[in-house]
Amino acid sequence: MALSFLSVITPFIVQSRPSEALGVEVVLLGVLLSIHWPQPKSAPPGWPGCFSKDFRYQPRDESPSTLANCDLNSITIDPYRRGTASKRKQYYSKMAKRHASEALDELAGVDSPASKKSRLDDLSSGPSTTNGRDIDERRELYNNDLENAQKGAVDEAEDSEEDFEDDEVEEKAPIRQAAPTEGYDDLYLDTIDRNVLDFDFEKLCSISLSNINVYACLVCGRYFQGRGLKSHAYFHALEEDHHVFINMETQKVYVLPEGYEVKSKSLDDIKFVSDPRYTKQEVMEFDRKPRTSWALGNKEYTPGFVGMNNIKENDYLNVIVQALSHVAPLRNYFLLEDFSSAPELVKRTSILFRKIWNPRAFKAHVSPHELLQEISLRSNKRFTLTAQSDPVEFLSWFLNNLHLGLGGSKTKPGSSMIQRVFQGKLRSESQAITAKADASDRLRFEEAAEVKVDSGRFLLLTLDLPPAPLFQDELERNIIPQVPLTTILSKYNGVTAQEHLAQRKRFRLVHPLPPFLALHVKRFSQNKFISERNPTIVTFDPQGLDVSPYVQPDPAFHTPGEPILYNLVANVVHEAVRARDDVADASEERKTWKVQLKDKASDEWVIAQDLFVDKIRSELLYLGETYLQIWERRREPPANRKGKGRA
Ligand SMILES: [Zn+2]
Repeated sequence: MALSFLSVITPFIVQSRPSEALGVEVVLLGVLLSIHWPQPKSAPPGWPGCFSKDFRYQPRDESPSTLANCDLNSITIDPYRRGTASKRKQYYSKMAKRHASEALDELAGVDSPASKKSRLDDLSSGPSTTNGRDIDERRELYNNDLENAQKGAVDEAEDSEEDFEDDEVEEKAPIRQAAPTEGYDDLYLDTIDRNVLDFDFEKLCSISLSNINVYACLVCGRYFQGRGLKSHAYFHALEEDHHVFINMETQKVYVLPEGYEVKSKSLDDIKFVSDPRYTKQEVMEFDRKPRTSWALGNKEYTPGFVGMNNIKENDYLNVIVQALSHVAPLRNYFLLEDFSSAPELVKRTSILFRKIWNPRAFKAHVSPHELLQEISLRSNKRFTLTAQSDPVEFLSWFLNNLHLGLGGSKTKPGSSMIQRVFQGKLRSESQAITAKADASDRLRFEEAAEVKVDSGRFLLLTLDLPPAPLFQDELERNIIPQVPLTTILSKYNGVTAQEHLAQRKRFRLVHPLPPFLALHVKRFSQNKFISERNPTIVTFDPQGLDVSPYVQPDPAFHTPGEPILYNLVANVVHEAVRARDDVADASEERKTWKVQLKDKASDEWVIAQDLFVDKIRSELLYLGETYLQIWERRREPPANRKGKGRA
């Protein structure tokens, strides 16, 4: 719901989350109700009673039982009600000054708070409107506030008694405090609404759009810049009567307008959601102990296997982020290292990975918005949240930019975690195809002719599908062809040759092999007019892929003839969804992306498509149109490492 408040910046969010947008209306209705609700004469200002869950007004009653019946969850719809009931009552009888914020509106003759936009406009265009007058008077008050702050809290305590006697509350701006009044350090904490907190969206002040020194209001979830006098957060505290703010950099919580820090243990859950941190021990257990967590509203989820918000067209990115966050060494690195001084791309990747694995999350999904904004900027809008891109193109860009962001070298291999995880070596042999070679000979290496040998490095291996036959079965349905993964991997067996620019080429992997192999099944071909898709199904067993036939034997690394086994950890699949049921034309199809992820702790497979996450049987994995696979090299038993035979 906090997201919806950002609708100025990202209007599509509300559209894509209709049910939550409705929630906003309900809350807004509640706020309006509370603003215009006639206050009973008997209630002192600022303490008009409370609203029940269904927004029915319950007149104030001194008796504790009535106070206890007040639904404290409804606090967010009633800006006059603050604090645990009895504590608040005591506080107000002692500190009447706090009513100043309510009185400000009455003074300026404004029934409802002016919109932030109009207030901003007024600030720049000068005090020519009613709002402008309001601003001027406020400015005066804030200037008084400065003086008051200097005078200190002593004055306040002295004249607070008589202020309270007076039903006409004196207009004075709130006093700044270095620390909470003794005994009231948790005063506003029960106004915090964890349901509206969403720290996944880019931290931009909802008014200035600045990303510097941003605080989140813990009552409504919106972001505001600064906490000093006249800052946007300060104004927000006065205008909306929201008082608790968290600094998005330091995770320190402050009460505004007073300005003191709250150091309550009860805020730890919020700090953790905003910036989850782990110990090495905790991270090591992710893949060993099956775990279940509960988000707000008792929603069950498995940390690490949560939905990812498809804000508009960013499913291509979601599947890649999900897949990479399950590459254990990469995940552990991003979860445990301190990237506070790293480039934004690295920092935001780390934060998103940490949120994916959060065992104490408020909601069972994450949103890649913050990371996406940075990616959009760094890639010059090549990858955005509003236009679908190709997951493998994105992966390639992402890995290269993470490599550079982590201080990796452009020339020296193995100079970043990205390369240490994915980079492998490839040997290629090429031979010119001479004019005399006939059609059947074109790809056969000639013994006599010169063979040029090259070696290169890769982060990703591309596999080609055989051309899909367009024959039909007796019922005239198209038959979807199948090909085993090992067949298309034979591109790298050092024997099978391909033709490329009048050269015949053959490839082979070279030791040492990377701990993770990323395989791209090339399914789409693009010509000038149309993007064509090959629907061939690639069959595979997710356990124990033997890649030894595709590796140049080297006894220094591996006993020749022994298998080299990899297990699948992530599989990105494509699904064509017909845009309209009545159209058979393939160009009317929409690409959608899903990712299958291995939960090592439970030894189960999970399929994730945006917010949807479910279990899937491992025998069914291959039925999708595999597009990208990440395989992890199986640890060899210690005996084998010493050079003895495999069991
Ligand atoms: Zn707020």
